[in-house]
Amino acid sequence: MKSANAIISKQGTTIFSVMSALAAEHGAINLGQGYPDGEGPEDLRQAAARYIMEGPNQYPPMAGMPRLRQVIAAHDARFYGIDIEWQTETLVTSGATEALAASFMGLLNLGDEVVVIEPVYDSYRPIIEAMGATVRPVRLQPPDWTLDKGEFASAFGVKTKLLVLNSPMNPIGKVFSRDELSFIAETVLEHDAYVVCDEVYEHLVFGVEHIPLMTLPGMAERCVRIGSAGKTFSVTGWKVGLVSAQAPLMSALAKAHQFITFTTPPALQLAVADGLEKEDAFFNQLALDLNCKKKRLASGLMAAGFDILPAAGTYFLNADISPLGFAGSDIDFCKHITLQAGVTAIPLSAFYADQAQAPTHLVRFCFCKDYTMLDEAVDRLKRHFG
Ligand code: PMP
Ligand code: GLN
Repeated sequence: MKSANAIISKQGTTIFSVMSALAAEHGAINLGQGYPDGEGPEDLRQAAARYIMEGPNQYPPMAGMPRLRQVIAAHDARFYGIDIEWQTETLVTSGATEALAASFMGLLNLGDEVVVIEPVYDSYRPIIEAMGATVRPVRLQPPDWTLDKGEFASAFGVKTKLLVLNSPMNPIGKVFSRDELSFIAETVLEHDAYVVCDEVYEHLVFGVEHIPLMTLPGMAERCVRIGSAGKTFSVTGWKVGLVSAQAPLMSALAKAHQFITFTTPPALQLAVADGLEKEDAFFNQLALDLNCKKKRLASGLMAAGFDILPAAGTYFLNADISPLGFAGSDIDFCKHITLQAGVTAIPLSAFYADQAQAPTHLVRFCFCKDYTMLDEAVDRLKRHFG
C-alpha cells in the first residue's frame, strides 16, 4: 500500500481529545479541553432554531451570509475602530480552525518560514508543514511569559512569510501589550511579512485591553484577523469563524476557503449576527463572569498547594505543580490526577514542538465551568494531595 500524506499521517490524536476521553473513561471532572459547561445563551439558540425552520437551508454565498458579513464589519468598527468593507474584506468560515487552515493554504508556498510563539496552539503546525513551509518557534518563558524582543527578531529572516500571533493566547492566557505589539509590528514591517492574528478569545479579557495588531500603523494591509463565535457566545460546537482582512489578502484566503468547506450553516451564521449585535453589556458580563470563575479556581488551586501563573484572558489558568512534590512530568501528573483525584487538566508540554526542551512542571486548567464543578474539582485535589 502507498503511504498517506507524510506530514498529516505522523500527527497523533490531539491532546484535547486524548484527555477528554481519559476524563470520560474515569468519570473525572474535565478541566482539560476548553469548552463551557452550559449550552450557551438561550436567545441565540432559539434564534438559530427559528432560522433553521424559516430557512434558508441551502448553500449560502461562499463568503458568508451578507447580513453576518455586514455585522462583522460593524463589530470591528465598534470595538476597535477597524475600517473594513464588508463585501470584499470579511469572510465567514467553519470555525476559526478553518480560517487558520485557509490562511495557511492561501498564503504559504514551499520553503516559506512561519514564526509562531510557543507554547503554541496545536492546529497551526500540521497545516503549515503540509503546505511545505517550516515553523520557526519563539519561546516565551514562564512564569511571566514576556516576549524576548531579541529572540523574537532573530526568528525572522528572508524566508519569513508570516507570523501567527495568538492574543489572548491559548494555553497561557497572555494578552500582548501595546508595547509588545508595536515591536512585533516593526519586525513584521522590516521583514515584509504577513500576520495571521488568532483572536478567538478577543472578548475574554480580564481588566486589560485586547488590541488587534491590525489596528497598529502599517498593519492593516498585512493582518488577517480571526474571531470565533464559539468562544464569544459560549457555543464551541457551532464552529463559526469570523474573518477580517483587506481585500488582496482576503481574496487569497477566500480561494482556499471555497475548496475547504465553501460555506458554513446559514442558520448559525444568522444567529451569530444577532449575537454580535448585542449591547456592550453582554460582552462585558461574559468577561466579568469568566474572571470571577478564574479567581475562584485560582484561589482553590493555591489552597490545594499549586502555584498559579498570571493569566489576563482566555478560558485557561496555568498551575505550577512543583510545590506538590509530585515525582513525574506534567503528562504523568495529568494522567495521575485524572485517575487518582478525578480531575483532568492538560499538560503544558503538549504545546511545544521540542518535547525535550519543554517545561514539565506546568498544567493548564479550564475554568469556564459552573462554580459547583470548579469547587468540587478543587475539593478533590485538596483531598488527594492532603
Ligand atoms: N485558536 C485557538 C487559540 C483556540 O483556542 C481555538 C479553540 N479551540 C481555535 C483557534 C479554534 O476555534 P474554533 O472552535 O472556532 O474553530
Ligand atoms: N481550543 C480548545 C482547547 O484549547 C480545544 C479545541 C479542540 O479540542 N480542538 O482546549
